[in-house]
Amino acid sequence: KLYNQVQDLKGNIRVYCRVRPFLPGQFGSMSTLSRIDDGNITVMTPAKNCKEGHKTFTFNKVFGPTATQEAVFSDTQPLIRSVLDGYNVCIFAYGQTGSGKTYTMSGPKELTEEALGVNYRALNDLFYISEQRTDTFCYEIAVQMIEIYNEQVRDLLSNDGGNRRLEIRNSSQKGLNVPDANLVPVASTSDVIELMNLGQKNRAVSSTAMNDRSSRSHCCLTIHVQGRDLTSGNILRGCMHLVDLAGSERVDKSKVKGDRLKEAQHINKSLSALGDVISALAQKNTHVPYRNSKLTQLLQDSLGGQAKTLMFVHISPEVDAIGETIGTLKFAERVA
Ligand code: ADP
Ligand code: MG
Repeated sequence: KLYNQVQDLKGNIRVYCRVRPFLPGQFGSMSTLSRIDDGNITVMTPAKNCKEGHKTFTFNKVFGPTATQEAVFSDTQPLIRSVLDGYNVCIFAYGQTGSGKTYTMSGPKELTEEALGVNYRALNDLFYISEQRTDTFCYEIAVQMIEIYNEQVRDLLSNDGGNRRLEIRNSSQKGLNVPDANLVPVASTSDVIELMNLGQKNRAVSSTAMNDRSSRSHCCLTIHVQGRDLTSGNILRGCMHLVDLAGSERVDKSKVKGDRLKEAQHINKSLSALGDVISALAQKNTHVPYRNSKLTQLLQDSLGGQAKTLMFVHISPEVDAIGETIGTLKFAERVA
């Protein structure tokens, strides 16, 4: 309770920036990063008339290239507790392809204990805290995993490979949801890991046909929590959406055609719709434009109101990426 009051003072939307380290093989490259202190990040902007400029952006927190997965997760922990208290939470990973979104949310391909991402750590905490509360609450936890590609919703946990298009519906009892997507009860983190692996496999099936679709679709893992208060019998419901967004890179519209152009337009539209929603909420506007994309429709209940939002924006350190880096930082500053 007290914790949530403290949270509310801080505001319900937080934006963290994370800078990826150089990858093996990039050793000694020039970095665009010039300084990080607390919530400020300063990057070098492209040379204009042979003079380099610097630009500083401010966020709730900035994690530099050496930040560990544990450190990145540590501030997220309180959000997990609030899901069990009946709040809705959204955690997003935003950034251009290759900037470290999947690393933050899931981890690297070769997973080690230290490298576990936010998803795993969040689930571990969720199960851990729910077990601590068995004297007072009885929790049921279930999971959905959904992909949004070209404004179409697909179930990643279905056995038919998720080829059916699904609808987002609004019901008075369950709020906004995707009733036809599998909702699988889980009892431990390892149950969820198994489901996430199935989801990843279903996602990969379509990648082969269209090469690396994962960077061009949004992937949303949703944890539904229902808790029954053992004394009063009251039910509380909370959910947590863990969203690995499509790559935010701008596609040169004069260079792509057909399917690629369509994909680019859909991504562009849905990421700007997300930016519009979060910035309307941050400015406490009365009108929040949820209807402009499938992503914001799906997450409507979990963005705004009492819900808590955390956005990790990722940037790559390479000089070549500076255009995208500035684009990402500007997007993030608008919602911060
Ligand atoms: P994205 O999902 O944004 O396309 P990835 O998460 O796949 O990017 O990251 C691209 C590459 O960089 C991967 O090989 C990943 O393991 C590596 N990487 C990303 N972030 C980090 C980090 N903080 N520390 C070490 N390696 C990282
Ligand atoms: Mg990725």
